[in-house]
Amino acid sequence: MTRAAGLERFAAFLANEGAEYAGSRNFDLGPQARSTTSALSPYLRRRLITEDEVVAAAVAAFGYEDAEKFVSEVFWRTYFKGHLETHPAAWTGYLALAAEGHERLATEPGLRRTYTAATEGRSGIDCFDAWALELVETGWLHNHARMWFASIWIFTLRLPWALGADFFMRQLVDGDPASNTLSWRWVAGLHTRGKHYVARAENIRRYTDGRFDPVGLDEYPDALDEPMPPREVLLPPADAVPDGEVALLLHLDDLYPESLPLGTARVACVGGFVAHADGASELVKAADEAAMADALVRAEAYFGCPASLIEKDWFGGLPIVTASAPVGPSAMVLPQGCLRLRRAWDEQAWPLATGGYSRLRKAIPRLI
Ligand SMILES: Cc1cc2nc3c(=O)[nH]c(=O)nc-3n(C[C@H](O)[C@H](O)[C@H](O)COP(=O)(O)OP(=O)(O)OC[C@H]3O[C@@H](n4cnc5c(N)ncnc54)[C@H](O)[C@@H]3O)c2cc1C
Repeated sequence: MTRAAGLERFAAFLANEGAEYAGSRNFDLGPQARSTTSALSPYLRRRLITEDEVVAAAVAAFGYEDAEKFVSEVFWRTYFKGHLETHPAAWTGYLALAAEGHERLATEPGLRRTYTAATEGRSGIDCFDAWALELVETGWLHNHARMWFASIWIFTLRLPWALGADFFMRQLVDGDPASNTLSWRWVAGLHTRGKHYVARAENIRRYTDGRFDPVGLDEYPDALDEPMPPREVLLPPADAVPDGEVALLLHLDDLYPESLPLGTARVACVGGFVAHADGASELVKAADEAAMADALVRAEAYFGCPASLIEKDWFGGLPIVTASAPVGPSAMVLPQGCLRLRRAWDEQAWPLATGGYSRLRKAIPRLI
């Protein structure tokens, strides 16, 4: 999991799948088949590569019109980030519901049986079981499979949505607090309230190229309803970068420090810390650690200063500067008193992400 590997994957996408993306992206042909999407999410999630560079390169390669669908999908990621930043209660609410779900598993044998069968790929629904195993084995699922999986979890198996989101966060190598929490809420009908996503057997047969023939799906469920929608808060302002020497702190939400807007600050030392998602699988932890190691090596070469995982007093009394960590595991343990920078991409897009996606979508031509 390195920036170089992300750039290589992206170059292959531009040369191959990219041209067909709009027409083929909804097909999940299975883990052994040719990909229909970029598979860049593990790199974008950690900002080993950034949204602005992939959008600029896709537009340069295909022209805006032909790149539009891909660009719009990248902006979904930006949208969810901005939305969770302004609705952090969606994250804390999810964490509380997931913890409550785990307590229920300890005391309710029926629920535990369904949950265990679902996560071990023994639900009896062919596609769902294949995806559960694929997720655990590879750490990844196609977007359409994530939608179907979440829908079957919630509406057919009637499992708590937060336990499903928690299962994804533990297993996905691109596990992302914003995209994951808000996508699960969206499938359940809690994001765009009352509008839920229903997995249908015919749609699954079609977009998996006939690999599956699921039976027993509940195709006419009601959306979930939770009494209190998450409250909106103001986007916290970013800090200004000081002049002179600073210590730069890296975390898993932003691992391309060479492109941070550091102004006239001079980076004298770099420290990094790794905050995994709760219960992260060994696959996810290994990806997190490899990504951090790669960023530290690059930072040391680029800034010409020592870079390592942080130890006590690593910053030598200098002001600590860090990329603003959006809501999630890194932000929850970021030391007090850090100066938090925000990239221009987030600064411009996040204020447009407080409601539904369409406001941000309409602004895309201006933003890029
Ligand atoms: C229930 C559910 C849970 C999800 N959990 C996560 C998660 O934890 N982490 C994560 O990165 N994505 C998540 N997604 C969004 C999406 O499934 C993945 O980003 C996408 O499958 C990644 O594959 P790709 O890189 O080949 O995407 P491509 O289709 O090639 O798209 C390019 C990039 O755009 C962004 N993107 C594409 N589709 C979406 C989308 N629907 N929502 C947000 N961003 C998108 C991703 O950064 C992606 O890498 C989830 C979706 C659902 C329905």
